[in-house]
Amino acid sequence: MNYRHIYHAGNFADVLKHAVLALLIRYMQKKDKAFRVLDTHAGIGLYDLSSEEAQKTGEWRDGIGRLLDAELEPQAAEILKPYLDAVRELNPKGEITRYPGSPKLARMLFRPQDRLAAMELHPEDYLRLSRLFEGDFRVRVTELDGWLSLGAHLPPKEKRGIVLVDPPFEIEGEYERLVKGLITAYRRFPGGTYCLWYPLKKGAPIKEFHEALKEADIPKMLCTELSVKSDRDATGLSGSGLIIVNPPFTLKDELHRALPVLKDILAQDRYASTRTFWLRGEEVSDEDD
Ligand code: SAM
Repeated sequence: MNYRHIYHAGNFADVLKHAVLALLIRYMQKKDKAFRVLDTHAGIGLYDLSSEEAQKTGEWRDGIGRLLDAELEPQAAEILKPYLDAVRELNPKGEITRYPGSPKLARMLFRPQDRLAAMELHPEDYLRLSRLFEGDFRVRVTELDGWLSLGAHLPPKEKRGIVLVDPPFEIEGEYERLVKGLITAYRRFPGGTYCLWYPLKKGAPIKEFHEALKEADIPKMLCTELSVKSDRDATGLSGSGLIIVNPPFTLKDELHRALPVLKDILAQDRYASTRTFWLRGEEVSDEDD
C-alpha cells in the first residue's frame, strides 16, 4: 500500500468526486430521516495543502485552487455551493491551506441524526483518521479492508445511505473489483445510493468497465466523466469518472449544467471534455454531453 492521498488532495478528480458527494448528501437531507455514509476507502480526512507532500505535486492548485479563484455563473455556483461552502469554512482567512477529504466533508454537512462509517486500511492513515474523529459519536472509523465492508457493513441500520467507493487504483484489476464490489453491495442494499470513483488515463479499460456494469442487474446507473486533458501522452490521470447508482432525480440535470463550467475552469489543454449519461435506466443514451 504505497498510495498516499495527500499528494493528490484537492486535485481535479477530488473536485468532481467531492462536489457530487456533497450533492448526494444534501439530497438525502431533503427527508428528516437519518442516513449513513459508508466511505470504504476514506483516507486521512483532512489535508494540509501547505505540507511538503501536497506542495511537491501542487495538484490542488489546478483543482480546488482554480475553482476557488473562478467567477462562477449563478447556476453552477448554486450546484457547487454545499461543497465550496465546506472548503471555505475550513479556510476562513481566504487563502486555502486545509482541504476536506470525503469523510470530513460528509461530517461537515451532517445534521445531528446522520452517521458516517469510514474504512481505512493503511495503518498510519487509519490512526490519523481516527484521531480526527476522536470522541465524535456520529463517526465510526474502522481499520478494515473497504471491499469487505461492502458485505459486512451493509445494509446500514438506518436503511438509507450513500456508499462511496474510492479505491487508490494502485493494483491491477481495480475496475473489475469495483464491478464485483458493487454487485455484492447492491444485493445487500438495493435501495442505497452508490458513488464509485474511477480514473481516466491512457489505456484504461473504460468500455469494458461500462459494459460489465451494464450487465449487472442494477437498474439505475448514471455515469459522469470529466477529462481535463488529452490522454495521448499522459503518464498520470487525464480525468476521472463516477458511477452513481440510484442517483437523485435532479442529479443528471445538475451535472449537465455544472460540468461544462468545471471543464472550462479545470481544463489543462484543448482536449478537455465531459460527458454525463445513463448507463442503465431512465432514458438510456450513449453519451449525451
Ligand atoms: N475517499 C478519500 C477522499 O475522497 O478524500 C480518498 C481516498 S484515497 C483515493 C484511497 C485510500 O484508500 C487511501 O487512503 C488508502 O490508504 C486506502 N486504502 C487502500 N486500500 C484499501 C482497502 N483495501 N481498504 C480500505 N482502504 C484502503
